[in-house]
Amino acid sequence: MPDRVSADTLAVWGGEHESLVQGATQVPIVYSAAYGYPDVETWLDVALGRRPGHIYSRNTNPTVHAFEEKVRVLEGAEAATSFASGMAAVSNTLFTLLSPGDRIVSVKDTYGGTNKIFVEFLPRFHVRVELCDTTDHAQIEAAIAQGCRVVYLESPTNPTLKIMDIARLAAAGHAAGAIVVADNTFATPINQNPLKLGADLVIHSATKFLGGHGDALGGVVCGGPQLVRQIYHYREITGAMLDPMAAYLLIRGMKTLHLRVRRQNENALKIARWLQEHSAVAAVFYPGLETHTHHDVARRQMRGFGGVLSFMLRGGFETVKRVLPRLRFAHRAANLGAVETIAGTPATTSHVECTAEERDAMGIPEGLVRYSAGIEDADDLIADLAQALSVA
Ligand SMILES: *Cc1c(COP(=O)(O)O)cnc(C)c1O
Repeated sequence: MPDRVSADTLAVWGGEHESLVQGATQVPIVYSAAYGYPDVETWLDVALGRRPGHIYSRNTNPTVHAFEEKVRVLEGAEAATSFASGMAAVSNTLFTLLSPGDRIVSVKDTYGGTNKIFVEFLPRFHVRVELCDTTDHAQIEAAIAQGCRVVYLESPTNPTLKIMDIARLAAAGHAAGAIVVADNTFATPINQNPLKLGADLVIHSATKFLGGHGDALGGVVCGGPQLVRQIYHYREITGAMLDPMAAYLLIRGMKTLHLRVRRQNENALKIARWLQEHSAVAAVFYPGLETHTHHDVARRQMRGFGGVLSFMLRGGFETVKRVLPRLRFAHRAANLGAVETIAGTPATTSHVECTAEERDAMGIPEGLVRYSAGIEDADDLIADLAQALSVA
């Protein structure tokens, strides 16, 4: 499709064309482990990539391919490959790019599972991991300048909504000869395109906003053809491919991505502003607030500030335990980015894999509430929060 087609149109039409068969207006769910050919020559041509087609669904699958294409065009990437979950995308990418003796620079409060890869698994393979303070860009630049194979960014971060200057840190990474990876799960391609800001690879947990309905897990990596090809190869051999049914649900969810995300941007900003004025609330973290430390960077690199915010209650974790059960319009669950509002604590959601000490070292307070605004009416959500906070 031509470049000038807007994201709104790409969310609806992008990536589907070549997968529609026999006049179907929707991408079919292809459940076939393997693909048959009438003669060995054609089969061999497909196997060698000389002719389009599929061989075996651990490698490629038509439904999965349509999903990859939809994300690819929305991120403005040349190539994309998908995974069984966001963590499969993160881990497969890191294990493709890193070898023993390599060094990776990232930050302390990436997604909890990503942090586990950094502190538990990569060191076993003799990869040196340097985790910097997320907001200290000078420290991150200094760590990058010492030399590294990968710079791993995430912005906004989960769950404290810190902002990393992607263009600035990508430039530092490239000056050091590193590959720059950015987790764009919280922003979505509607609000932010890390590849346009200089990143080499962009990762999504499709489980969150891309799918948007809390009913399918998936992950995806987009970027240049060479890097994506290597990551695809690691995944086709190690086997963390996306299931065709999940791919179908994610495609269906993505058709409304632009509508959902814009509504969630609006709801989250309105709720963040309201919480800021509430006497029971000690602090609100949302990049759309003028009071956010890196609001200027967020304004520069994002078109909207996303559907997730977090806040701290006076009275800490004990108050959180009394307030959360009172919410009528929020699932208390370990997910985000769905059409329903979801609220939780880091200890039960993003950083459930970590100990209290590890969360503390990452700068994640126990008394924090992560709030993923859904597409409900903002005033209903605010009224719900008001009655819940009345016991705080
Ligand atoms: C949820 C999440 C992941 C992991 O995705 P899964 O689909 O749960 O494996 C990675 N990064 C971020 C920012 C996330 O929120």
